[in-house]
Amino acid sequence: MKHSPDPILDPLYDRLHDRIADSRDALIALTRDLIRIPTLNPPGENYGAICDYLDRRLTASGFQTQLVRAEGAPGDCDRYPRWNIVARRDGGRAGPCVHFNSHTDVVDVGLGWTQDAFGGALIDDGHGARIYGRGACDMKGGLAASIIAAECFIAEFPDFAGAIEISGTADEESGGYGGVAYLAERGYFSPERVQHVIIPEPLNKDRVCLGHRGGWWAEIETFGEIAHGSMPFLGDCAIRHMGAVLNAFEDRLFPAMAARRTDMPVVPEGARQSTMNINSIHGGQAETPHDSTALPSHCVPDRCRIVIDRRFLVEEPLDQVRDEVRGILDGLVHTRPNFEYDLRELNHVLPSMTDRDAPVARTVAAAIRQVTGKDAEFVASPGTYDQKHIDRIGKLKNCIAYGPGILELAHKPDEWIGVDDMMDSVMVMALSLVALLAPEQT
Ligand SMILES: [Zn+2]
Repeated sequence: MKHSPDPILDPLYDRLHDRIADSRDALIALTRDLIRIPTLNPPGENYGAICDYLDRRLTASGFQTQLVRAEGAPGDCDRYPRWNIVARRDGGRAGPCVHFNSHTDVVDVGLGWTQDAFGGALIDDGHGARIYGRGACDMKGGLAASIIAAECFIAEFPDFAGAIEISGTADEESGGYGGVAYLAERGYFSPERVQHVIIPEPLNKDRVCLGHRGGWWAEIETFGEIAHGSMPFLGDCAIRHMGAVLNAFEDRLFPAMAARRTDMPVVPEGARQSTMNINSIHGGQAETPHDSTALPSHCVPDRCRIVIDRRFLVEEPLDQVRDEVRGILDGLVHTRPNFEYDLRELNHVLPSMTDRDAPVARTVAAAIRQVTGKDAEFVASPGTYDQKHIDRIGKLKNCIAYGPGILELAHKPDEWIGVDDMMDSVMVMALSLVALLAPEQT
């Protein structure tokens, strides 16, 4: 960590800096503890265990806690209850509430690991100390950083104005409906209760993330007629019809999307346009198990389905995104004999963008400058995260993502978080709390 270049701030900066430096071991221990609770989603395991852990930790630091189960949310059941925690610590006088929201779930481990995915190994092999494990960067490191930042800030400024909230929420990786969406529907993110939200997702310690692109997910099905595979002319192949759909996408949709640029500062650069992934394709006989020695029977497939994952820009209305795909399919109805299709929307998320002059964005950017000596970079995320619910359901616009960790490591094997990066982020978060909740000190 570099020291503040501002001589007026120096004494305050040094006090906070020293306290945070003394908390390095606590930060490491907390991050490792969180990684060791395997909160895999799916199916949504151990949400109760991690909330109990956070409950003990935050209660000991003077927070009032509430455990909220998202009853009836997708996936919530007695075996896999969707537990969330909201912890609040009020200051000595009136003021705004700053809320740090972290999701507690992690994605599947996958193959290719050399470390124990839930071991939380601390390794320094010459690149600086790193903590390894699923969720290290996405986003248990960020959650730990926000807790240490709040504790250090409170210790230095016990008479702060307003309140600090820290939440640990379920299911972000599967849409957040059993987590932030559930809480937002119950008023936890209303502008009357919360004024500033920081989501410590791993966007790198020197970047402020203002929002994300939108997403539209749909299933397209084509139909044919089953017949013997030796006489395909007696049937109608649904997979060939789907081939025509994919060709039309290649010829018309992909070039059109590539030509559409956005003013959103999306990173990486390749996502600064509309994109679409073909998520899956299924047609004909069901796949046989890997160990099956059976040969396929010979049939013309009478149905074929794809799932599309269309990411769109703040400049594109959702209706236009839908109409564009439907227009291509309707075009095939007119030009291709016997072409029939079904289009079913699975889900959609609208883009979300906070203004870069919003108070929380400006404050965190200034703190980044103090800590790193460089201007913060404003970015937007290619994929969605829980900001969508805070924006649409909570009606709270003053929300950003800011946290340690390298975005590209999320969901990868041997995921890790750098301890020095976490320490810098703790300082940025603590300085942001000073600016928002103890402004007379600056
Ligand atoms: Zn995440």
